[in-house]
Amino acid sequence: MDSNEFRRYGHEIVEWIARYFENVEQYPVKSRVKPGEVKNALPDMPPSGSEPFDRFMHDFDEIIIPGITHWQSPNFFAYFPANSSPPSVLAEMLTAALGAQCMLWETSPAAAELEEKMMEWLKVMTGIPPEFEGVIQDSASSATLAALITAREKATGFRSNREGLSDAGKLRIYVSTQTHSSVEKGAGVAGFGRDNLVKVTVGNDFSMDPVALERAIEKDLAGGYIPCCAVATLGTTGTTAVDPLRAIGEICRKHGIWLHVDAALGGTALLLPEMRWMTDGIEYVDSLVFNPHKWMFTNFDCSAYFVRDAASLIRSFEILPEYLKTRTRGEVNDYRDWGIPLGRRFRALKLWAVIRSYGVEQLQSMIREHIRLAKMLAGLISTEKGFELLAPVPLNTVCFRYRPAGMNDEEANHLNEKINHALNDTGKIYLTHTKADGKYVLRMVTAQTNLTETHVLKAWELIREMASALSSQDGAVNID
Ligand SMILES: *Cc1c(COP(=O)(O)O)cnc(C)c1O
Repeated sequence: MDSNEFRRYGHEIVEWIARYFENVEQYPVKSRVKPGEVKNALPDMPPSGSEPFDRFMHDFDEIIIPGITHWQSPNFFAYFPANSSPPSVLAEMLTAALGAQCMLWETSPAAAELEEKMMEWLKVMTGIPPEFEGVIQDSASSATLAALITAREKATGFRSNREGLSDAGKLRIYVSTQTHSSVEKGAGVAGFGRDNLVKVTVGNDFSMDPVALERAIEKDLAGGYIPCCAVATLGTTGTTAVDPLRAIGEICRKHGIWLHVDAALGGTALLLPEMRWMTDGIEYVDSLVFNPHKWMFTNFDCSAYFVRDAASLIRSFEILPEYLKTRTRGEVNDYRDWGIPLGRRFRALKLWAVIRSYGVEQLQSMIREHIRLAKMLAGLISTEKGFELLAPVPLNTVCFRYRPAGMNDEEANHLNEKINHALNDTGKIYLTHTKADGKYVLRMVTAQTNLTETHVLKAWELIREMASALSSQDGAVNID
């Protein structure tokens, strides 16, 4: 592709993206393709010669787009969001064009220094104390793994990286029953063993019970285990429960346990001063991760990892072959030492574009509106006959179900699963579910970049209609 062609197709693609953003609501939110359909539409052999780029764009429209679920649709209420935004996309194009490997300061000083500055901005924006240092990781899963490994190294006097874990004793990790699966994955990968992940019970609001945590730690100490790390969550994936950081922190401090905070979703709410109650007790925290790539309008991937003792993080990960030695080592941040991969994308650029393009005040008002919409929806649900709220709504996620009078849990589970699939099959909205206390829970997340009150009200109307249509079909008067 020569530079004239690049220019022509580049303009076309920007036009395509602009139209996509304008028309994204017209696609079925959840892709309707069947398994194998996309693969079967693709040729078995790669082209041996050059093809015109038009053909690529044609197949992108015809084969790929039908197989895409539209996360940028304001009618996407599933999982947690993976928000993009126009400034983020534009900056990502520049990152791709530069194609810089940002592993060392020397391999692109601007990338390292912009990353350092953006992490400082995020601390100011979220009230994370200045003594923390930040680094951008690809995902919360990787950041949490880095925290577990650092906790492991600290607990073993930085010997386990070198000697392995055979003499380390039985190191334990404490989470709640609601903690994200990435911690369990990390416990396996980091050599703790998944059986050494202790799942502490939660209260009625699904947040970790600190009394149960302390009991679990004492039981482990009596049994010869070594308490090593605890993970508290601000905004659990199931119901956005917020674990009580201060109470957990005091216990961790008493027993010398590394406290990691998984705020993958909830961290973005810290932009709002009125939500900083979640980080009461941050003085006990060793590390915290949150994902601008979820709720902060910065397209995947961009995960902000903050650590109080960066020296321990670096000591856990640095490894210095001859070909990576530089003259600036020690004077600058070489972020390859701050996580697992060597190669690193220039991710700070899109974060810079997003923060500058919106400004802190507009980011705050968008996030505040998302929380307001969740509370508004929760209010509508709690006063609607037959519907019930199944968890508190501290952030942007509403957990509920439809259970007409007289219906038992098992029947309600069956009915709500049917409602969920039927709603998603309309293509008009997309919701996902969770299980809480054995109940099938519909989960509606009000946090997409372009979401407005109208979208939420329309979705709620559709949910009510679907629930009543399917339950009358299910009822005793049904003759088939
Ligand atoms: C989404 C999520 C994760 C995983 O995030 P990735 O960046 O995809 O690894 C971890 N913890 C919580 C609470 C989450 O919501």
